[in-house]
Amino acid sequence: MSVQSLFNEPLLNKYNINGPRYTSYPTALEFGPLTQKLPLKDAFVQSQQQALSLYIHIPFCHQLCYYCGCNKVVTRHQDKADRYLDYLEKEIRQLPVCAKAPPVKQIHLGGGSPSFLTLAQHTRLIALLTTHFSVEKGAQKSIEIDPRGVTTEYLSGLSKLGFNRVSIGVQDTTEKVQEAINRVQDTSHIATLVKHAKQLGMTSVNLDLIYGLPHQTLSSFTETLSHVLTMRPQRVSLFSYAHLPARFAAQRKIDNAWLPQAQSKTALMKLAMETLNGAGYELIGMDHFALPDDELAKAQRSGTLHRNFQGYTTMGDLDLLGLGVSSISAVGPAYLQNPKTLNDYYSKLDEGKPSQHHGCFLSSDDQIRRYIIQQLMCNLALSVNDVENRFAINFANYFKEELTELQAFVDDGLLTVTPHAIFATSSARLLIRVIAMTFDAYLASKKNLHRYSRVI
Ligand code: SF4
Repeated sequence: MSVQSLFNEPLLNKYNINGPRYTSYPTALEFGPLTQKLPLKDAFVQSQQQALSLYIHIPFCHQLCYYCGCNKVVTRHQDKADRYLDYLEKEIRQLPVCAKAPPVKQIHLGGGSPSFLTLAQHTRLIALLTTHFSVEKGAQKSIEIDPRGVTTEYLSGLSKLGFNRVSIGVQDTTEKVQEAINRVQDTSHIATLVKHAKQLGMTSVNLDLIYGLPHQTLSSFTETLSHVLTMRPQRVSLFSYAHLPARFAAQRKIDNAWLPQAQSKTALMKLAMETLNGAGYELIGMDHFALPDDELAKAQRSGTLHRNFQGYTTMGDLDLLGLGVSSISAVGPAYLQNPKTLNDYYSKLDEGKPSQHHGCFLSSDDQIRRYIIQQLMCNLALSVNDVENRFAINFANYFKEELTELQAFVDDGLLTVTPHAIFATSSARLLIRVIAMTFDAYLASKKNLHRYSRVI
């Protein structure tokens, strides 16, 4: 696939509207209070999955990055993490399913900044998980790290605890950009960490980059990309900076005037895609890159890629149990979210109530649309026969209106629609979210669109 074919300027301009990222369908904006007494238990009873993925949210960070839109608590008090681990333990002990939960194939620590925890605190956390869940030998254990303050000894300690995948937040290596986002970090130190992670035998090292940051130019981002390519990580994630200062207070420290405007932002994305592609990385979905021998690249080639709250994954056939403040579980036909603030999370657990109090149980219509959106987002194609067999519907009748709406994309050369399948063309790849939106029943009135960021 040539990156050039993805950039049809008139079409990108026409369809660059606000839209969901579809890490879930329905999206989190549709979540509401749950009425079930034990929602998680009900969700597990209705699930047909035989294995589990655990997501643990560690909300603490040592310092505030001004671009940040995550759920986090900035603090220097390490003991706050001890208290948090006490409550994670409480949450796990109160789970109605723990003893009978399916085997765990995947553990992911996200944040905030999971590398806020000391090695002793990580040891406690891993012991907690292995005591209460049946974690498979050889399970994938991944962690997001903030390179500032992480040493090679710390990485070695994580490796001893079984972590075999690491994702490092690079964002941009230019000093002026780093100062504007309040995240100054040493590139040579990151390179040392990447090298060390590889020496430790970690099977995957991912580097995160962000385009659209203040003061970024084509020349500065070329330098950042060159630094990244020298490190040769297995994967690169390329995110678009969404400037939403009305929603995220930290972003008010970033002056609008410092930001690259829409055209320059697209040029930065194109530069990154061409550079990474030219260096042998395959584009996964819309925003990830992987070397050809990486399992994400293989899954994409075989049409078995999946998408969840952490992005693209090869393990879509797992229920996802989210632990910790604000985490979301995706179990069977339900999404269940923990309270979003530490105080609410702690209070719920002190009351002895299930922490998952918010979310939704999918209707059968939601489940059909979730499957379709997932297929389009991951595989850029949909088998009509597959949907009809899975959900016992007549596709043409059920989606009569949607098929009419899709015609606009067909006319623009973005889609091929036959009675048996829907295929996105290569120039539709960056616009696949807009095409998927056709099947989103909650966007019918378009009243929610302003809550989402631009698709590019
Ligand atoms: S970007 Fe990451 S490290 Fe920075 S404040 Fe946000 S969660 Fe913390």
